[in-house]
Amino acid sequence: MSEDRQNVRTLDHPLASALLSLLRRQETTPNEFRPAMQKLAMLLLIEAARTWETDTHEMASPLSAFAGQKLLRPVALIPILRAGLGLQEGMMQLIPEASTGHIGLYRDPETLRPIKYYSRLPGGLQEMEVLVLDPMLATGHSAAEAISIAKSVGARRVQFVCVLACPFGIQTVHGAHPDVPIIAAAIDPQLNDIGYIVPGLGDAGDRYFGTG
Ligand code: URA
Repeated sequence: MSEDRQNVRTLDHPLASALLSLLRRQETTPNEFRPAMQKLAMLLLIEAARTWETDTHEMASPLSAFAGQKLLRPVALIPILRAGLGLQEGMMQLIPEASTGHIGLYRDPETLRPIKYYSRLPGGLQEMEVLVLDPMLATGHSAAEAISIAKSVGARRVQFVCVLACPFGIQTVHGAHPDVPIIAAAIDPQLNDIGYIVPGLGDAGDRYFGTG
């Protein structure tokens, strides 16, 4: 993990770099893209969970008692539909006990602003570790809106997790939510004029679901 800038953490690990390169390559088929996205999601989850607290419980191994650890708070994963589902699927392999809420936003093609069409979130978010998920932090408007929706129903410990971020998106999210850490596999330098991250990986939803 490297601290590139305030409240942004990126993965600095050969496995993450190799998986990210596979996701970026245009030759990668949806069949190869999906497991790579899910594996990278697990590495991102490990980084996001670094700050979660545990509490100590007396447990017993076959040989003796020991001071065991459990996560202090339940976890909620909130994928932004639809590309966030790839991250959620991967993370559920590591924490199957997590609850999942869904937020549906689409980008108005002209303003690039998010429009909500669906929101269904677990109860009790105020006591949970909440991860809002979207592979691409591009303009940041969808991410900022999804975080606002989660906070509006009480979420307090929120992190945003993506595969690729860019400076514009980071600025948008932290302009609205300076308290929310951003976890990304990497930060790419630019956005093109239709709001895609460059070099990026293309349309994450199309590549994951084979709809390109
Ligand atoms: N959404 C994507 O899927 N890719 C981008 O580069 C930007 C937004």
